[in-house]
Amino acid sequence: MPLDKLICKYDMTQAGYCLKIKEILKNKFGEKIPKVFVKTYGCQQNVSDSEKYKGMLFQMGFSFTDDQDDADVILFNTCAIRENAENKALGNLGWIKNIEKSKPELFVILCGCMTEQENIIEKIKIIYPFVNLVIGTHSAHKFPELFYKAYQKIHEKNGRVFVSEKTDIVPEELPIKRDGKLKAFVSVMYGCNNFCSYCIVPYVRGRERSRRPEDIIEEFKSLVDSGYKDITLLGQNVNSYGKGLDENINFPELLRRLDKIEGDYKIRFMTSHPKDATEELFGVIANSRHIAHHIHLPVQCGSDRILKLMNRKYDTKTYLEKVSYAKSKIPDLTLTSDIIVGFPGETYEEFKETLELITKVRFSSLFTFIYSPRTGTPAAEMPDPFDKAEKTKRILELLKLQEEISKNLCKEMVGKRVRVLAEGIEPKSGDIMCRTDGNIIVQIKAKKEIIGSFIDVLITDSRNESLIGKLI
Ligand code: SF4
Repeated sequence: MPLDKLICKYDMTQAGYCLKIKEILKNKFGEKIPKVFVKTYGCQQNVSDSEKYKGMLFQMGFSFTDDQDDADVILFNTCAIRENAENKALGNLGWIKNIEKSKPELFVILCGCMTEQENIIEKIKIIYPFVNLVIGTHSAHKFPELFYKAYQKIHEKNGRVFVSEKTDIVPEELPIKRDGKLKAFVSVMYGCNNFCSYCIVPYVRGRERSRRPEDIIEEFKSLVDSGYKDITLLGQNVNSYGKGLDENINFPELLRRLDKIEGDYKIRFMTSHPKDATEELFGVIANSRHIAHHIHLPVQCGSDRILKLMNRKYDTKTYLEKVSYAKSKIPDLTLTSDIIVGFPGETYEEFKETLELITKVRFSSLFTFIYSPRTGTPAAEMPDPFDKAEKTKRILELLKLQEEISKNLCKEMVGKRVRVLAEGIEPKSGDIMCRTDGNIIVQIKAKKEIIGSFIDVLITDSRNESLIGKLI
């Protein structure tokens, strides 16, 4: 479908619903400002979505609290990528069941990837009838309208849950209440077309659709103008940005245009699918003024047979060639990755191939997971002869190896000068906590006035996976 048909703007109708809700809240709470507790599960995309929900809730007249007991509204932004994340959200819903009796006015919202799964609405209606509103990832731009309709039915038993429609959209101009003052997320695209055999994302987030470059540039520019220093471009696979747009533009070109914006800031991006990470991308990073010398390039495993079963569409040889090319172009490049341990049928010998690959690449850190079957994905149907105990043993072996690599990489940084962003104060030592391009923490002694600036430091020591430095 052409992009202009997919763009859904947060329009006056939704702003009008916010005003109506504000009026209801005024009548109900008087001078008191009602509070929302927002809990986000899962990835950065969800963190970014929660900031949009918060932006709309703020327009409706709510404030925010970190204390669930103190809240008038509870919003769980859920994740479906692993069973663990799903269980956590359901466990927290169980907790609400207990307080709901003493707090009949509590308004409970469930949104995010979990709500897009098959049969979930029916399950929620039966097990958690106190949930007032269920809103899928494709309907965020209509949140005020859905909230208004559900809020009017707050006292009605049964039928309080709203199902949101499943249409791929590109939401634009949603109000955003960002959590930080230095770091921000900008979504450049939504959905995924890759269908890795273990992953639920294409089923719950829909097909790939990119935002128009001019909308991204405008949002990005306003962040730089507002003083944000570390801006991460988000997408399930940013490297396939641009497909379906009228204009012929790819991700490296988008980066080039953003890099031209004047100001003092860093650009990051995630996630990059290795099959689409090109020499052009590495070249743009190498020649840029603002792009962090860091790539998160999820390899998932080091066995070609398993990569094929995962439907990752690259082999280890290609992956290693890309890494070696990237390192040749960007000598101070930091690489991080995701690893899945215990994919169905992965033998110990195949797992050891992952250890070999990790040793070769020397990632600075890894996000490691034990394979978690997701209903509806091809991998969930594959025979899986190895039990959880065996997989846990393997992941511990992997973590031990990674700890050693991270430690050694940190040691090798001693004596080097690096440019870091001073982000805040380390609560225990009172030192200033800074971060390198590669997301490694550096602690330095300095005045707190430098917080929010990029500074040059000399690395004087290393402590496991972090660094000690001094201001130059
Ligand atoms: S690229 Fe693969 S792992 Fe990543 S979101 Fe798409 S299907 Fe899931």
